[in-house]
Amino acid sequence: MYSFFCSSTCHSVGIQTARNFSAVPPSLLSLRIQSSSASSSAPSALPSCPSQPPHSTTSMTADNTPQSLDPIQMLSLKELARLSELSPEEFEARLESIRNKKGFICDMDGVIYHGKKLLPGVKEFIDWLQKNDKKFLFLTNNSAPTPAELNRKLQKLGVNVPEKHFYTSAIATAKFLQSQKPRGGSCYVIGEPALTYTLYEHGFIMNDTDPQYVVIGETTSYNFDKINTATNLVHRGAKLIGTNPDVNGPLEGGAIEPGCGAFVAAVEMATGKKAFFCGKPSSLMMSYAQSILGTTKEETCIIGDRMDTDILAGTWANIDPVVVLSGITNEGNLYNEAYRPYIVLNGVIDFVSEPSQA
Ligand SMILES: [Mg+2]
Repeated sequence: MYSFFCSSTCHSVGIQTARNFSAVPPSLLSLRIQSSSASSSAPSALPSCPSQPPHSTTSMTADNTPQSLDPIQMLSLKELARLSELSPEEFEARLESIRNKKGFICDMDGVIYHGKKLLPGVKEFIDWLQKNDKKFLFLTNNSAPTPAELNRKLQKLGVNVPEKHFYTSAIATAKFLQSQKPRGGSCYVIGEPALTYTLYEHGFIMNDTDPQYVVIGETTSYNFDKINTATNLVHRGAKLIGTNPDVNGPLEGGAIEPGCGAFVAAVEMATGKKAFFCGKPSSLMMSYAQSILGTTKEETCIIGDRMDTDILAGTWANIDPVVVLSGITNEGNLYNEAYRPYIVLNGVIDFVSEPSQA
């Protein structure tokens, strides 16, 4: 059986993640799904087990206070249609049109997995993508892992996705800099080896004296000396690049850790210079992903769990954005923005099994 919890993913401030489905009709409670393991596979009929206690998991409120999460509901077709601001008939038509897309750009945390757990229906979704010759990329704003490391992470969770299907903000950043300096260039990097290696691969050498760019990504080795060097290099004219604007990221147990955006902010404040960010919600990353897929905007969709990165990125890139409720977004924060998703789904499980008609 499944555990289908609200993600504790919390990559930027001001995001509240606790689900509140108190308005959900009692009939939907029978669709509560609990008790997952990474090796679970989706059943054709979702089990009802309301007597089981929820797993212990946490998330962040708007002020980043850890709090316990309730297990999320699997919403019916009518409820998903209501959240999508569509009639049930319009919802079914849009779900069919999304299934008929040729290219799929998928966020990872909150869509494919949460922490060390594969989310419901992911194995079946990946099988469906492959059996139907869909083009797909798994996209992450995290600049720290390489595609090989992401491949191994998913292998540990029980699915095998070849390296060519992963795309990170480190790759997008290197590609952007290569487009700016086709004959190569120089960088001072604060980040993990994956970022440095990717920049090398795209023609950039490391330089801590007079680089053209200061590039900052996720890292656990941030310190005063590095930020001092970066600050003075930018002060002397190096261009400041952030792999992504996420100011924090989730840890197990509801804690957070500072992310790339927070590191970049220190240099921005010290120098008065604004960074250029390459990761989501920049449409740059969407454009690179789409060119790899080789599909048109109309043939492509982006699937994500965050309005402020995934859905905004799709909106800016004019690629149909699909928000899933298996992560950050819930009924409480779905309506905060001026932009809307093309459709609201429980998760990628809705690609391979029909939402309940109840
Ligand atoms: Mg996510």
